[in-house]
Amino acid sequence: MIGVLNLQGGVVEHLDHLERLGIPCIPVKDPADFCRLSGLIIPGGESTCMSRLMRIFGIEEVILREFKRGMKIWGTCAGTILLAKSIVGEPTYLGLIDIEIERNSFGSQLDSFVSEACIPQVAPHLLPLTFIRAPKITRAGEGVNVLLRMEDYIAAAESPDVLVTVFHPELTGCVAFHRYFAKKCGFDPLDQKSIPAIDPAWNSKSWTRQTRITRS
Ligand code: GLN
Repeated sequence: MIGVLNLQGGVVEHLDHLERLGIPCIPVKDPADFCRLSGLIIPGGESTCMSRLMRIFGIEEVILREFKRGMKIWGTCAGTILLAKSIVGEPTYLGLIDIEIERNSFGSQLDSFVSEACIPQVAPHLLPLTFIRAPKITRAGEGVNVLLRMEDYIAAAESPDVLVTVFHPELTGCVAFHRYFAKKCGFDPLDQKSIPAIDPAWNSKSWTRQTRITRS
């Protein structure tokens, strides 16, 4: 089972992508839900807000405990900020991957942009990339494998247990990263629905199919 941290941000978009691939998934917020996860996605959103909610709900120590047990974690954008060992000019949160990150490094929301790149480990063709008030990974430490380097920054990286992307595959038709993360969590790619890495059935309203988010 893969969980998507359901505090704030792009939760339903990730669930929608996982469902496209036929991967069992749930939104998670209750500490009891985390013990059945082989992987957790911390979505994009607003890292300050999410970190405060994590503390209010007592989720930080649960994530650290389950990570020690073997749960893999993927952070997208704000999720990457929460996972970084070092944040320029700010205290760190979970600190589970040895990267340095600079928040809002491209400027304001208006400086958001789309791009594309090939990441051979993830898929053999160009992948769409959506950056929304994104951070830049400015350094990767020992044991961290850089998956995508752009001009003066790193956009995607991984350790054996953590995947980080400063862009948002869940806001495009690209399911290649979800497939890649599911494999990292131990799911057999043969068990997944065989849809193309860029799902032609996706559109910008697809996330509205999701009705599972509980408001409590
Ligand atoms: N700018 C946000 C932050 O610092 C991240 C933006 C995002 O997740 N799209 O938390």
